[in-house]
Amino acid sequence: MALIVQKYGGTSVANTERIRNVASRVARYHAQGDQLVVVVSAMSGVTDNLIRLAKEIMPLPDEREMDVLLATGEQTTIALTAIALHKLGVPAVSLTGAQAGIVTDGVHTKAKIQNITPKKIHDLLKQGNVVTVAGFQGQTIDGQVTTLGRGGSDLTAIALAAALKADLCQIYTDVDGVYTADPRIVPQAKKLDEISYDEMLELASLGAKVMQSRSVEFAKKFKVIFEVRSSLNDNPGTIVKEETRNMEAVVVRGVSLDKNQAKITLVAVPDRPGIAARIFKAIGEANINVDMIVQNISHGTADDVGATDISFTVDKPELAKARAVIDGLRQEIGFGKVIATETIGKLSIVGVGMKSHAGVAGKLFDVLAREGINIGMISTSEIKVSVVVDLAKAEEAMKAVHAAFLV
Ligand code: ADP
Ligand code: ASP
Ligand code: MG
Repeated sequence: MALIVQKYGGTSVANTERIRNVASRVARYHAQGDQLVVVVSAMSGVTDNLIRLAKEIMPLPDEREMDVLLATGEQTTIALTAIALHKLGVPAVSLTGAQAGIVTDGVHTKAKIQNITPKKIHDLLKQGNVVTVAGFQGQTIDGQVTTLGRGGSDLTAIALAAALKADLCQIYTDVDGVYTADPRIVPQAKKLDEISYDEMLELASLGAKVMQSRSVEFAKKFKVIFEVRSSLNDNPGTIVKEETRNMEAVVVRGVSLDKNQAKITLVAVPDRPGIAARIFKAIGEANINVDMIVQNISHGTADDVGATDISFTVDKPELAKARAVIDGLRQEIGFGKVIATETIGKLSIVGVGMKSHAGVAGKLFDVLAREGINIGMISTSEIKVSVVVDLAKAEEAMKAVHAAFLV
């Protein structure tokens, strides 16, 4: 008998037929005597639709209200999944994030889990129930509904697996596992049998939305080994775990593309100490995550203070908020034009093997040059190289890079 946390994403619960499929799978495990905690997402498209409705009324809706709104998506699926289990004769009880004991901080729309008190879940399991839990949501200590950032049901599942000391954590989705690239963009992509936390974390934060990046960070911290697999078949999936020595033999594990980034350039920013600090402190205080930052060398001006251009990238949905923060600094700092563009793609190659192999970045630039693709920004770390390219050419670039490194 094992305690298993299973998570089913939006496409796996997209309609009542899919929900019945989920219930059948859960019922099979239950019949073997396993204890099951089933985390579900909103039905696919529901969260996006709720966001669209709110934005129809106001472009920057209040974030507390957004959380109250978005949490309804998952609340629908926990109940429908429990009902589908009842239909199969399996005792099941649904719990919202708050009822499941998930306590978060108060940063609306991207709250962090502070602690989990899974007493209610334990009690229900002990009585023989399957427990369905709403992914993506929690509650502050003073009872405010919060959500954990897009894709946050993955985090709910991993955090519950850690808190419950589950024997198994399975992330069910609409692909057979983690691939060398998004199989929707690169049909030649291959499924990986295993991948290290660090590689998964980089791929996820760089656009491979198969796992929410914060959930992988959490899994690494609490050593939760998990499997990403399909809810549509019984094929073995991809195991995500601590790096093992033989993993370094592979230089590039995967390629990812983030089409959800926007670039802001501040032209002619005074080149004095403290200016970058002022800009990025204000952006940070607005809870906007900045990813790449590039500052050009100073171009001299007539007076003694030079000027420089600063470009940085943020998530597309935060562009309006970031622009508002920048506009608020104009008086104080005095820069020139602000150029914002949403037509960029960030292409990255990731692999722990890069630590011990030289020349990877050079090969990447070479592949792009041969394809006639211009590089806008570059950033590297020990296990990844990222470049910003024109969005219109990004998928073509990804295919070429995948073919060069992974086929
Ligand atoms: P869920 O709704 O189950 O959470 P998501 O849509 O969030 O599923 O994530 C699954 C999708 O992630 C897949 O359909 C696939 O297109 C995409 N994806 C992106 N990169 C990868 C990758 N490297 N491996 C597998 N899937 C990927
Ligand atoms: N429903 C949420 C979203 O679409 C959470 C999730 O699916 O994991 O982002
Ligand atoms: Mg997801």
